[in-house]
Amino acid sequence: MKVKIQPVIKIDGHWVKIFYEDNLSDYHGKYGQSRFAECEIAIDRSISDSCKMQTIIHELLHFIDNTYNNYRLEEAETDALATGIHTLLVDMGVEFDWSDIK
Ligand SMILES: [Zn+2]
Repeated sequence: MKVKIQPVIKIDGHWVKIFYEDNLSDYHGKYGQSRFAECEIAIDRSISDSCKMQTIIHELLHFIDNTYNNYRLEEAETDALATGIHTLLVDMGVEFDWSDIK
């Protein structure tokens, strides 16, 4: 089942913009970046769709953690949860459709 990633996702009343950025990993050593003040998530354009899927789950968890959990998750915990959720969704046959992300 394909799930389309929308260019704007609502989290607790905040509209979070999702978009690609080039060479993100070169600058930050990561494939995604959550920018809370700007309410946006940048994803490295060059990575595979499966890597994008895990990365967007990771970055959305940062926003959920920030909004509902006082930003208490450590980076390693965020990574572990994102990997678990990604694996669960893939095993359920879910794929993300990135065609609306620019
Ligand atoms: Zn992170």
